[in-house]
Amino acid sequence: MGRGKVQRTCLGCRQVRDQGDLIRFVCPPDGTILVDYRHRLPGRGAYACLEQDCIDQVLRKRQFNRAFHRECTPVSSNELFESVRLAMLERMENLLGMARKSGQSTAGSNAVLAALDRSGPPAVIVFAKDVSVGVAEKVERKARHHDAECLYLLDKVTLGRLSGRSECSVLALSGGTLAEAFLLEWKRYCRTLGEN
Ligand SMILES: [Zn+2]
Repeated sequence: MGRGKVQRTCLGCRQVRDQGDLIRFVCPPDGTILVDYRHRLPGRGAYACLEQDCIDQVLRKRQFNRAFHRECTPVSSNELFESVRLAMLERMENLLGMARKSGQSTAGSNAVLAALDRSGPPAVIVFAKDVSVGVAEKVERKARHHDAECLYLLDKVTLGRLSGRSECSVLALSGGTLAEAFLLEWKRYCRTLGEN
């Protein structure tokens, strides 16, 4: 999807990487630096690694001004990095929404436990961060037994919204390209949290 093997340089550490492994930033005429997470916005782009160190360096060396040939609106590294994380969360929410629409997800602890008992069990189990300990332990034990990846993300209300319920504490994704895309995104997100 345009994020193939094209290589770009991180303006922070100067390493050359596949474009898909870098965050793209754009700067519209008003000078605001925007995170173009899906690499879809028009115009010149500037790139940085997923690590905040690299974004720090880009800002410290005023590389955006150089890349965009204009005076960009000042922004803090924390602010920019938070925008990157939000873009990742948004992407993961979109993928969960797509999974539901295409019948590739199962919501609710009982349904997830039942899905784990069937052949071709789910590949990924997403727990709301505010799931009760009892439910989490029960589902996670069974999930690990079936080699399903377990992760904790969002809250019950948000997972509920994404699965057409008022609340949802656990959700399972069937194996396939969608689950793979979701896991890839999750790993990137973990990198931004320094967990990897
Ligand atoms: Zn870098």
